[in-house]
Order: sequence, then structure tokens, then C-alpha cells
Amino acid sequence: MSTFQEKEEKIIEFWKTHKIFKRSVSEKLPKNKKTKGETFSFLEGPPTANNVPHIGHFLTRVCKDTILRFQTMRGKYVPRSAGWDTHGLPVEVEVEKKIGIKNKRDIEKYGVDKFTKACKESVWQYKGEWEKIDDRSAFWIDQRHPYITYDPNFMESVWNILKQVHEKKLLVEEFRSQPYCTRCGTALSQAEVGQTDAYQNIQDASLYVKFKITQSPKLPELKGAYLLAWTTTPWTLLGNAALAVHPKLSYSLFDVEGKKVIAYKLPEGYSAQAIKKFLGGDLVGITYEPLYPSKAAKGNDNAHKVYGADFVGSDDGTGIVHIAPAYGEDDFQLGKKEGLPVINFVNEGGLFDSAVETLPLPEIEGIYIRKAHDLIVEDLKQAGLVLSYDPKGHTHAYPHCWRCKSPLIYFAMPSWVIKMSKIKDKIIANNKKVNWVPKTAGHRFYEWIKEGKDWNISRKRFWGTPLPIWRCGECKKIEVIGSFKQLASHTKIHNTYYIMRHGEAIANVKHTASSQPEPFFNLLTKKGIAQVHKTISQIKKLGINLIIASPVLRTKDTAQLVAEKLGIPIAFDERLQEVNFGQFNGKKISEYQAYFETEEDQYYVSPQKGETFTQMSLRTVKALQDLEKKHTGKKILIVSHQGPLMVLAGAMQGLTPKQTVLKKDLALHFAEVKKMIVYNLPRNEEGEVDIHKPFIDDVAWKCSCGGTYNRVPEVCDVWLDSGSALFSSKHYPFEEKNTKPVDFICEAIDQTRGWFYTLLAVATLVKDMPAYKNILVLGHVQDAHGKKMSKSLGNVVSPKDVMQEYGADPFRFYLFYVSEPGEPKKFNPKELETLKRNYFDL
Ligand SMILES: [Zn+2]
Ligand SMILES: [Zn+2]
Repeated sequence: MSTFQEKEEKIIEFWKTHKIFKRSVSEKLPKNKKTKGETFSFLEGPPTANNVPHIGHFLTRVCKDTILRFQTMRGKYVPRSAGWDTHGLPVEVEVEKKIGIKNKRDIEKYGVDKFTKACKESVWQYKGEWEKIDDRSAFWIDQRHPYITYDPNFMESVWNILKQVHEKKLLVEEFRSQPYCTRCGTALSQAEVGQTDAYQNIQDASLYVKFKITQSPKLPELKGAYLLAWTTTPWTLLGNAALAVHPKLSYSLFDVEGKKVIAYKLPEGYSAQAIKKFLGGDLVGITYEPLYPSKAAKGNDNAHKVYGADFVGSDDGTGIVHIAPAYGEDDFQLGKKEGLPVINFVNEGGLFDSAVETLPLPEIEGIYIRKAHDLIVEDLKQAGLVLSYDPKGHTHAYPHCWRCKSPLIYFAMPSWVIKMSKIKDKIIANNKKVNWVPKTAGHRFYEWIKEGKDWNISRKRFWGTPLPIWRCGECKKIEVIGSFKQLASHTKIHNTYYIMRHGEAIANVKHTASSQPEPFFNLLTKKGIAQVHKTISQIKKLGINLIIASPVLRTKDTAQLVAEKLGIPIAFDERLQEVNFGQFNGKKISEYQAYFETEEDQYYVSPQKGETFTQMSLRTVKALQDLEKKHTGKKILIVSHQGPLMVLAGAMQGLTPKQTVLKKDLALHFAEVKKMIVYNLPRNEEGEVDIHKPFIDDVAWKCSCGGTYNRVPEVCDVWLDSGSALFSSKHYPFEEKNTKPVDFICEAIDQTRGWFYTLLAVATLVKDMPAYKNILVLGHVQDAHGKKMSKSLGNVVSPKDVMQEYGADPFRFYLFYVSEPGEPKKFNPKELETLKRNYFDL
């Protein structure tokens, strides 16, 4: 007798041998069968394969699969492609660890090309694990044609979307204050700071510092007294530009240690009688001696004054708030309102840097901001400006980088922003069309979207979709690139290329596949020779300087006929030869074609001892790249075969495999000659179109003003990639224009500010529509006691182990049994055991 698990494995084998899933979604289904029923559309929320799938991933996959199978059984056509999220900081951080890199400067030293290549490889590290679990749990999804966010054509769609956003005047560059990770060297979005675990307790400094009053227009007697402020981040004092008080709060003048000090209240341990009291409003307009000089504040009459602000509270500190517009959100906003200077001494790595602004304290040069506290306080003590200081005097919850766990700072800098605040009403209206399950998840989502926060999409990193924004260094005009074609309009090619297919040969008449080594002496037929002669008169008019040909007999003969007749030099290149048919060489061409499920599969599937179209594409592209290197201003005729010429022409325009096989005007008749469209697109060392950094940054062009257009250095927020997946996974608008909301998506509740939002945001930006009609939001899986599963608690359950012990179906069933999909699920192995015994072991 076999175990339950063995029975399951047999069923999976049966499904595989009979291609059950493939048949339910195959393109080769009889047309009537496929189109008769309604389509039920679905979009996979792309995971990242640089980590093993956890129980939460398993839960979402089980719920998706159950709904999708149910719809299939109702007679609907349910196409479903896998998707992979591949860009972003998580990937970069993993690679940095692997190669022992500490910061951005190290990456530049290491080589950006090597670094992004390592990122590309690293994202597939655990693909095998994902496939094993999907396979064993019978999660049916098309893994053979997934969408991949680093795919050049996916990125081309993202570019197109950004161009549209730009045309709607919603893409702007703004100087803004934002959460920033000094280790990662990039800003984070509000959504990222909203991740669970972002806030952790931290021991910060507690410093009471005095500012000496120079002028006091309303209360002249205060001249020479001190304003007492409290801060937990002494490093920000260098950027002090003002002080803020609450206009309605009552402040007192105290005598503390022989000095006159103004505060709402004194720090613990200090007691003194108030000499005089006055309202905060009367302090407004006071000027004080700056703690430190800076170029940014020089000549600014608004700097180093007291301002009134409603955000000043009386709970913490002294009721007087030190304002550093470069290092705080409230500070930045007040600075904007009052025209304060943004004084910054810190570089992108979080170090004090005299290259940014001359440092008043040479000893803090090159020191990390939080490590400079003691040095700064010591200096202020010398000046008699410190009332009290405790380096670890204040414990509070503080936001940290969700990837690298470094404490974040607020940092004011220019960023590229999508003005979501301007389309807030549309977002809310589109969300009303969505069926949220459970409803409470929809309410939570509404609370988030009604804030209408703008979306900072720029990241100062390496591995991501580069922002498609080029700017002239002189006149500052910008151009947003929305397609490869538009990009190519700014680059040059050195030569003009024509392509020619050979004349008819014996193998063509016999319908035989013939690549090298040729199965028989495959000469041109009489008809084939006549076809070539007929074309020669046409070629004569083109003024060809050079012929490059495949050395296979039929192309060699064709090229030689042309070369001799017109007296043109000729060269042969192995890389232009026919596709290697492998096991099918010498067999019927129809047998070769039947080997592939779709024409597109010729790019991915290789016959035994043969090659894929992808391999053929790379070798032909390399041949062309060499011609570009060797020659300039030539007219070159390439003589080759149907397959290689079609694939080469597609690759030179940056088309996808699918576009190439479907584009009928890429096919050639026997001996036909055509001009080939060649785009000079950035390509990696393999010859593939690659618009990642650093390749894309080589593209620059002259402006009419005489300046040069260069790309802005940033890459896109990775959430823009996945958020655009409704469009980009279909290569919108190049292959699919008429994108509609999908019927169904399903992910866990932590995507509220993540994917649920970015999908809706992008669909609203592009087509003013929702991205999905129905959304199932799942609760988290916890341990049996309702605790979050985490490595540190040692209560993590691996879905692989559970399936091994109990089988896949009991586990799947259990996840529905234990609670409603929207509720948290306490995973209790004992319950699962009982459930299996009662329902499955019959
Ligand atoms: Zn970080
Ligand atoms: Zn210009």
C-alpha cells in the first residue's frame, strides 16, 4: 500500500505526462474551444527568487490556485503567467554581502557592469526551490513564459508609462525632505517606512543647548539671554537655520547657573523660579548667534531667527525646537514657508564632508553623523552653550531601513516625483469599482489612498529600471524617452545594411532541414539561380560596397553570383549560417517545426545537438557589431538564410521573440533583398539589448543649444516595476494596446501600501481605470500561539517540510479550514494531523 504522499506524487506525474495544465491554457487548443467560454484574467504578484518561499508565499499560491482552478472548472479560459520581481535594493544588498562590499563607492570601484551582472544572476538563486514547491503543491501557473521585470521589453513599457506621466505634467523634479538610508545611499518611499518592523527602539542622545539672543524686537530686555532647545540628534545642529516656538504657549525666563535662559520648562533635575513669563508669539522675530557659520546661510536675512509653528509641543523638551531644514520634514516645510536656507554638511553616505560644505569643525571630516555627537558637543561646551548632555539619554521608537536595518535620517534633496496628490480623486473613484474581500481590507486601503501622498520614484542606486529622463547640461531642457525607437533616434549607426536570402536550393524543394554539416550536396536549383539573377539588377542600384555571407553552400553560391556580376568584394562569416537543426538536420522541416509548441519556443527550446533562436540571435548580432566596428559609411549586403535574417532583424530593432516571429514583414522570399532597420541600442557583452546601468548611460546627444543631453543618474523605485505589471507584462503599448483591469488578484495584507496601491496608481495614471476587479486580501500565517514566525524566535515552518510530512492537499485544505482567508492563521501541526486523519486517510 502506498502512502498518501506517494499517491499525490503519482497524480502529479499523471498531470505532467498528459500535460493537463498546458492543455487548459495552451495556444494550440482548437480555437472554438478556447474562445467559446469567457476568459477569467489574473495577474500574478511577482515574488523575488533570491530567497526561499516561506509559508506566507505558500498560502497566497494556494488561494490563487484554488480560485483559478474553480474558474477553469466552470468552463472559463484562465490564462496565467508566472511573474518575477527582479530589481531593487533587496537584490543589491544580497550581492553586496556576497562580494564583501560596504557602500556605494565600493560598487563603483568594483565596476557597475560587473555589479549589475551579479545582481541579474543572483535573482535566480532560489528559482529551483520555488519551482519544487510549486510543483509539489500543484500550483498551476505558466512558468515557461513568465514576465520578468528586468526584461528589456518590460522596461520599455515602464519607460512608455513614465513618458505618458510626463506628458500629463505629473512627473516633476522636486526638492523634498524624505526618509533616507545613509548605508544604502538612497531615499525610501513612505510605503517602505510603513513596512512592519521599520520602527525599532533606539538609544539616542539627549542634549540641551543654548542659543544666544542678539536682537529681541518685542522684548528688548531679552538681548543677551539664551534660548534653550533640546535635541536627540546633536549632529543636526550644524544645519541649524532657525528656532521654532508655539505662539500660544507660555514661556519663562529663568536664572540657571548664573545665565538667563528662556524655556517652556527646564530639563529634569533643574529647578528655578520664573523671573518673567511671556507668550511664544512675543518671542517670534528674535535673532540669535548662529552656532556655526555656513556658506548656505550667508546673506540670508531669514536665517537664525525665531518663528512660530503649530507643530511645536510642550510634552518633550523645552518648547523651543531647533530647525534644520536639510534634516527634518517639519523643518523642511517651515523652511520652505519662511525662506530659510537648507544648510547641509553631509554627503550621501552619511559622512561629514567638506566637499559638500566647508566644515566649521575639521575634526569631524569623514565621520559618520551619529558618531560625531561627542565631538560636536565638546565644541559647544567649550563655547559655554551646553546645559546638559547624555549620549544615551533618550530611548524612543525610531525608523530603520527595512533592508539593511540602519537608522534612517530625513534628508532634503532633489527627487523625481509623480504628483499623485493631483489625481487623488480619480484614485478614490477607481477604487470604488473594486470588490474588496474582506471589506475591512478595503477600508484600510481607503485610509491610505485618501492621504494622496506624492510618489518619489527616483532611487540613487544601480540595479533597477533606469529613469528614462535625459537633460541638457546647458539649457536644462529634458526629454523623456518612451521607446527603443525614440532612443535609437538619438544614436547613430555607421553603415547601411541590406539583407538577402539565398535563391531556392534542392533542400527547399524537398522540404528538408539543412544546416552544417549539410546532409547532402545542397546546390541552388535552376529556378534558384534565376531568382538570384533577377535580383542582381536591383542590387546594382543600391551601390553595395561589401558582401558578407553565410558560408553554407546555397548562400555562398548566391553571394558569389552577385559579387562576380557586380565586382563587389565578398567575405564569409560562420556566425551568419543557418540555425543548427541538430537532431533534425536532414529530416523534414515539418518535423523540426512540430517539435515546438509555439513558434516563439524556438527561442527557448533547443533540439538535441542543435541550438535555440536565442543562441542564433546572439551570434548574428555579434557579426553585425563587428561590421560596425570595422567599417564606416559603407553599404553592406548580408547574404544568409530565412531564420538567421529574421532573428537578426528582430534583434536589431529590439523586438521580443514573440514580436519577431509574428512580424510577417521580417520574412524574405528566395533571393529577396531588403534594407534592414538597425537601431543602435545599448547592448551587454552578450550582444543582448540591455538598457540597465552602466550601458544606458553611454547614450548622450547634442542639444540644439550646443549642450549635451545626458541621462539623470537615478533608477526607478522597484515598486514602479511591479506596479506597472498589468501593462508591462504584456509589453504595452507595443504588443498590447487595449489593456483592461484583470478579474482577480490575491496577495497578503502587507501589500496594502505596496502592490495593491502601485497597481491602482499606475492604472489610474495611464488609463484612469482600476487595475483589478476583485481582490482577495490574505491574513498572515502565525505560529500555533499566534506569534509572528521569525528566524530569531525559531518558530518558522517550511512549506516543503509540511508537505513532506502531511501531503500537499491536507495542507492546502487546512489553510482554508483554519480561518477565513482574510483572517490571521495560527498554524498548528496537531490540528493539521487530526484533519488529515479525519478527511484524507479514509
Ligand atoms: Zn539601508
Ligand atoms: Zn540645451
